[in-house]
Amino acid sequence: MEEDKLKYYAKVHSVESFGTVDGPGIRFVLFLQGCHLQCKYCHNRDTWDINGGKYKSLDEIFDKIIRYKNYIFPNGGVTISGGEPLLQVKFLIELFTKLKDLNIHTCIDTSGMVSITEDIKKLLTLTDLVLLDIKHINNEKCIKLVGKSNKLELEFARYLSDNNIPIWIRQVLVPRIY
Ligand code: SF4
Repeated sequence: MEEDKLKYYAKVHSVESFGTVDGPGIRFVLFLQGCHLQCKYCHNRDTWDINGGKYKSLDEIFDKIIRYKNYIFPNGGVTISGGEPLLQVKFLIELFTKLKDLNIHTCIDTSGMVSITEDIKKLLTLTDLVLLDIKHINNEKCIKLVGKSNKLELEFARYLSDNNIPIWIRQVLVPRIY
């Protein structure tokens, strides 16, 4: 898809309209398609393929969220998961701008293994909570576990902390492969 249209379309894997484990309260959870990691324990492998999923428009997704507004507002909100949601940052800036106009709580569930670009910084100003999946604090073990260094995710965690963006640290523990 052309670069300028990426703001208005997302590659979507699936949605969950009544999520209770991905942030506070009842959440509308949008799972985006595509991930650049290959965590050994991943239970969402069908989200990996960047060419999979289906394009959905910003309006279509926003309208669907609004249908659930009475459930998710004011104590819950919207969580974007994946896959790796930050691979579709331009779309998320547009979506979160619309959600914040309605004072809806916004949350991103991410590995944080991305460079902190101007787009990422902008998105984070619209984000109420980051569920940060720290893969492994030991770099060698991190590379073995997910195929990438933990350098970017630790920089990401530092950026969140320095900018007072609320974080829930999450870490998956799997006997025998951790
Ligand atoms: S970051 Fe998440 S979606 Fe991507 S491989 Fe790891 S567990 Fe799976």
